[in-house]
Amino acid sequence: MGPGTIGAWRELADRVWVAVAEPEAVNLGLIAGDDGCLLIDCGSNREHGDLIRRSIGTVTAAPLIGVVVTHAHYDHANGLGAFADITTIGHESVRGELPADVPAPTRELAVAGGLDLGGRRVEIAHLGRGHTEGDLLIVVPDAQVVFAGDLIESAMPDGAEPTDSTRAAPWWGSDSVPHEWPATLDGLVGLMTDTSQAVPGHGEPVGREFVFDQRGRVAAVAGELQRLALDGVPQAEALERGEWPYPKEHIAGGIAPGYAQLAAERPEVGRRQLPLA
Ligand SMILES: [Zn+2]
Repeated sequence: MGPGTIGAWRELADRVWVAVAEPEAVNLGLIAGDDGCLLIDCGSNREHGDLIRRSIGTVTAAPLIGVVVTHAHYDHANGLGAFADITTIGHESVRGELPADVPAPTRELAVAGGLDLGGRRVEIAHLGRGHTEGDLLIVVPDAQVVFAGDLIESAMPDGAEPTDSTRAAPWWGSDSVPHEWPATLDGLVGLMTDTSQAVPGHGEPVGREFVFDQRGRVAAVAGELQRLALDGVPQAEALERGEWPYPKEHIAGGIAPGYAQLAAERPEVGRRQLPLA
């Protein structure tokens, strides 16, 4: 795998930029204040991080004072080694998820924190689990922009309308928390107004209606997992027998953690000997 690439920075709101990096067509964010700027997500390896860091000077003279990783997945966090001389911020769970050669964030958040960029304050919050254990939201209140990582996705299959929320799908991995994800998205919806923009981890920025709609589908996945488990459908058959609002390949990784969480949270399911095989 090569070091990765970065596309042009595009100004989404006053001194808030987004660029698409490869691999994975991941959205990077950049927020500048009077005294410094903050990078959101940092590439897929150290060389990629270096490339991204060099690109920042093309859009702002504000010095880079921090990096925040939205979650621990490689395309968002594995460039951390390129930023070892400045503050790096992540959820406290990120440390345990990174490869050995990627340095952990130097400032670990459990719930929330803030950063003053000079005349502009950025809020960073963990509103709950969902796509991973450690999803962070980065809010720029004065620009009405929130970076949401992979809690939401708007990347479209080929040929779909760019704002068709029925076609864009998030990913459930083995580290996802399907039953808590909807409540976390309730928190995101609650942060947004009619004119807010949310930047997903992948895909175009979206408005509150899109997030609200995707929240409903994420809740439908959680509900279907619960129905299957309570009906006694074996875990190994759940993907095929379920009715899902998204293509099965997006859901597949969430079956095992979904069943495990239900067994842990619902004693009556455990007593009925929830089939886990
Ligand atoms: Zn991810």
